[in-house]
Order: sequence, then structure tokens, then C-alpha cells
Amino acid sequence: MSTHAKIRLYVEHPLAAGQTVPLSRDQAHYLFGVMRQAVGGAVLLFNEEHGEWRAEIVEAGKRGGMLACVEQTAPLRLPPDLWLLFAPIKKARTDFIVEKAAELGAGRICPVQTEFTNAERIRQDRLQAHAVEAAEQCGGTYVPPVAALQRLERVLSDWPGDRRLIFADEALVGARAALEAAPRSDKWAILIGPEGGFSPAERDRLHDLPFVTPISLGPRILRADTAAVAALTLFQATRGDWE
Ligand code: SAH
Repeated sequence: MSTHAKIRLYVEHPLAAGQTVPLSRDQAHYLFGVMRQAVGGAVLLFNEEHGEWRAEIVEAGKRGGMLACVEQTAPLRLPPDLWLLFAPIKKARTDFIVEKAAELGAGRICPVQTEFTNAERIRQDRLQAHAVEAAEQCGGTYVPPVAALQRLERVLSDWPGDRRLIFADEALVGARAALEAAPRSDKWAILIGPEGGFSPAERDRLHDLPFVTPISLGPRILRADTAAVAALTLFQATRGDWE
């Protein structure tokens, strides 16, 4: 038996020494069909409570299988309490934003419909699957939930007052509007607009809200997907878990 496990799988199941974990049909197909694993093979499992565990394959079938946890290989590590709010754009770019948000340690991913957002709906299940895959390959022990698409207006009127909203405002391109201006907080969110940017009414509203800190992302206008990565990076490096 190889003790060297490279395949990582996210499971919604308790993990502990000796604990057996059943595989879903998709996971069985992936492990045995695609990755050609067999009984005795080693796999890393993680969930959002018990960290990462090395497990051994004890049953392998076409439609399912069973693993048994051997030992913990990494402790649970949760990302900062940071939401990423973004306006869905074209499919491949939206997928990219979700993947990067999971890799960069967003705690929750919230697609929002703004005035200039074209997308009327999103495939929440597909986006969630992207977040799972990103977490599996980046070594994290957390998968950010992808929320349902909600109107920005609604999100702002229901906003929990103790959460700081970092608003990436393209009108501030090149301005000295930095994240340092935001007061200390342990609950955060970042808001990125669509390719068309925010409407003047949205911008006015955002600037008036007491929980909002408008920031600039430098002297160039970034595409929404780039802006999401830049803002998450800036946050993690200065207020988040890179410190
Ligand atoms: N079409 C708009 C730009 C939209 S860019 C225009 O020409 O003005 C998409 C989103 O990325 C913006 O809504 C904003 O949230 C973010 N963004 C891009 N560049 C930025 C910058 N330099 N500063 C702050 N936010 C930026």
C-alpha cells in the first residue's frame, strides 16, 4: 500500500481515526475510473470540521466505494470571514472568479445582480462544484459556499451592520483610496462590479452607506475577473491570512 496520497477529495462526512467514509457515485467514478485507484490506495480527505486525513481505499466499485481514515495530515484551517460579492459576467470568467476566490481564501462567494449585470441567472451548482475543485487542488480545508444570485439593492438593504464592505470603485481609478482607511473589523466583504461598472445611482448609494469603504485598485481599469483577484490579494496581504 502506498502511503503517499496525492488525490484530495472534499467530503461532507465526519473524519476521525478508523472512520469509514462512503464515496458518492461521482467520486467513485473519479477515483476508480479516471484516476485508476484500487483497494489499498491512499487518498486525502478533508471536510470543514476535521481538517485533512489520509484514508485508505477499502472498497472500490463502479457506483460507489468506501474509504477508511488512517491519520490526520493537516489541521482544520478556516479562511478569514471575508465574502466576495461580484456581478456575474461571461461564463468562463465567472468560473474563473469562483475558482480564484476559493484559492485565495474567500469565506463565502455571493453573486449579485447590479444594474449593469446581464446575467439573469447563474448555475449555482456548477459554480459550487468549481469551488470544491479549487479547494481540493489548493490544499485548503475549506470550501466557500456559493450563494444564490441576489439583487445588490436587496443585499445592501439586508446588510449586517457589523460587516465592513470594501467597494472596488472604478471611478476611483488612480485615486489615493486605500484599504488602510477601513476601520478594524473581523467581518469583511469585497464588492466587484460587472464589465459595465456601477451605475451613478449605485455608486452614490454605496458611498453613503456607513459600512462601506470605497477603494481604488490602482491607476488602470481592470476587468472584473482581474479586479476580483487583485482585491482578494490586497485584502489577504494586509488584513487577511497572509500576515
Ligand atoms: N466599464 C467600467 C469598468 C468596469 S471594471 C469603466 O470603464 O469604468 C469592473 C469592476 O472592476 C468595477 O466595477 C470595479 O469594481 C472593479 N475595478 C476595475 N478597475 C478598478 C480600479 N482601478 N479601482 C477600483 N475598482 C476597479
